[in-house]
Amino acid sequence: MMNPSQNYIDPLTMIKDFQKMLSCTICEKIMKEPTKIRCGHSFCKTCIEKILQKKSAHCPICKDSLNRSKIFKADYFQDFIDKFNAIVAIIEIDSRLLSEYPTTFIATIN
Ligand SMILES: [Zn+2]
Ligand SMILES: [Zn+2]
Repeated sequence: MMNPSQNYIDPLTMIKDFQKMLSCTICEKIMKEPTKIRCGHSFCKTCIEKILQKKSAHCPICKDSLNRSKIFKADYFQDFIDKFNAIVAIIEIDSRLLSEYPTTFIATIN
């Protein structure tokens, strides 16, 4: 038998996971001007630029060598980030409304 509570994924956990996916591992923030490098990892454009200033640049995750010809603009990531921000904005409104319900309910009983 499956325990239904084990199957339940907390939406907040999902959002946090999603946020992690869209975050830059260098600055640990949501990527700004997401840029993909040849190995497949993505970071902020400015974070990559900082790495490229070093004598021997490597991907901080997989250590693949890095140079200017190996970086690409990741527009699809920007799309995800825009949608993610929109979702977070909607949820914030919803959770505020939800938290008002118990108070309304108590007020009705009294
Ligand atoms: Zn960054
Ligand atoms: Zn890499």
